Amino acid sequence: MTLKKKGKYWYGTTPEDTRTEVGRYSKLNAHEAVKFAASACACNNRTFKLETDEDEGVARRTCTACGSLHLMGDGEQYADGANLEAHECVCGGEAFELLSGVALYDGSNDVRWYYIGCHCSRCQLTGVFADWKCEAGDAEAFLGNI
Ligand SMILES: [Zn+2]
Ligand SMILES: [Zn+2]
Repeated sequence: MTLKKKGKYWYGTTPEDTRTEVGRYSKLNAHEAVKFAASACACNNRTFKLETDEDEGVARRTCTACGSLHLMGDGEQYADGANLEAHECVCGGEAFELLSGVALYDGSNDVRWYYIGCHCSRCQLTGVFADWKCEAGDAEAFLGNI
């Protein structure tokens, strides 16, 4: 489990690698992610298509096995005004394992910033595909719904 850099992209193999990348990215963003959770469908599958609207703060994942849709975190509150765009990897892949990370407000357990780490199932690319300032309250409740 080590991240390797090819050109400007990072490639990893395990969820820990994705976590490392979310940590690196979030430090550069000055709001370090400190709590993490991996997405899993009710059918136990762990790869998804991902659509986001960073302006509205909405992310929706679609299970690649059973097709069920899920609005991640607090996205349901903002979904009405969202203009979701699908993410595609530089390799053309559209199936990702998702690892969410959140930064917290000092001295609290309240979400301050949300990061979505993705690991491409086809080429192993690992990166943060979307992030935004997020006032979602309790981190455990938020991460329990990703
Ligand atoms: Zn599923
Ligand atoms: Zn890829």
